[in-house]
Amino acid sequence: MPVPFLDLSSQYQSIRAEVEEAMEDVFRSQRFILGPEVEAFERELAAYCGADYGIGVSSGTDALLVSLMSAGIGAGDEVITSSFSFFATAGAISRVGATPVFVDIDPATFNLDPALVAPAVTPRTRALIPVHLFGQMADLQPLQKLAERHALVVIEDACQSLGARSQEGPAGSLGHYGCFSFFPSKNLGGAGDAGMVVCRDRERAERLRQLRSHGATPKYYHPLVGGNFRLDALQAAVLRVKLRYLDAWTARRQANAARYRELFRERCDVAESAPAPLHRTSVMLPYEAPGRRHVYHQFVIRVRGRDALREHLTRRGIGHEVYYPLPLHLQPCFLTLGYREDRLPCSERAAAEVIALPIYPELSEDQQCEVVDAVVEWLHSA
Ligand SMILES: *Cc1c(COP(=O)(O)O)cnc(C)c1O
Repeated sequence: MPVPFLDLSSQYQSIRAEVEEAMEDVFRSQRFILGPEVEAFERELAAYCGADYGIGVSSGTDALLVSLMSAGIGAGDEVITSSFSFFATAGAISRVGATPVFVDIDPATFNLDPALVAPAVTPRTRALIPVHLFGQMADLQPLQKLAERHALVVIEDACQSLGARSQEGPAGSLGHYGCFSFFPSKNLGGAGDAGMVVCRDRERAERLRQLRSHGATPKYYHPLVGGNFRLDALQAAVLRVKLRYLDAWTARRQANAARYRELFRERCDVAESAPAPLHRTSVMLPYEAPGRRHVYHQFVIRVRGRDALREHLTRRGIGHEVYYPLPLHLQPCFLTLGYREDRLPCSERAAAEVIALPIYPELSEDQQCEVVDAVVEWLHSA
């Protein structure tokens, strides 16, 4: 039986009546851009992640972009980020004219290694963008200390980690800016593109609001050059309905993760840390750092010979994905920055070994068994 990587239809069926009613209300009001629905969602999302202000924007990418713009980052500035992330993290830095400075990851968590960030700071460094990858927060405390020491802006890329937390607090609420994406496949997904910036500072919030509407205040007077980064009322209406279910969906993702762990431990050799090289017959499971709430946006395992496993899973009809096959410092568009292969070995190795298995909330126990069967069959075929 094939298992899809993601199944958004079954989730939609479970909340269809509510979503359709919420959309109907927006159509009746004929208020499609910003307005009360967006404002309500901004308040609810900011409260959900422990921030004071929420500014609804057009996507997670634009959340990052408008945060950088609001911090006044541009040509001549350097912004330190992880090389192992979705492209948008680095793309936003380049789009404001700044230079991305890529730092390697902690191989256990796939997040920025704070010990490597300090040596990357130069007199031109203006900001840090830690990414909370796959649903688990990066180690923010040392990064915040470093940021304070050098007066750097901290922009959390929390696009994959709404609801995640560490002992210090929820993802998105700790830096100067927290960026979220509601791309349909994210843990809280809209019916199209949508995003949010959260922050605790009123002046930053006002500047973000201004910038998302072409830098205007009042209307048609432009102290700043912004853009059209607005959130649609229809997206806000859908997302407000879905936010009420997010904790229940997250609990199911966590239960699925726990079940994968059990199944793999029963059936094959599980490597507990990231030994180099991994044995061809073992699998490395996601590491949960102590004191963190992991929301399992993805369940990412590591194997040696990942591309062969991909082919095997494709033949068996098991959905899977590779996040991400090429680290950012080696992307063709960044070759001019002069990074060579072997420069960020942990990111490069992760790119060669990772594979994400289905983890969505509606995934059944039988489906998980199918997935594990297929992976174990391949491990034992070595
Ligand atoms: C999804 C994602 C983004 C971009 O969000 P969009 O809404 O697709 O623009 C940025 N960073 C990370 C880590 C993401 O996963």
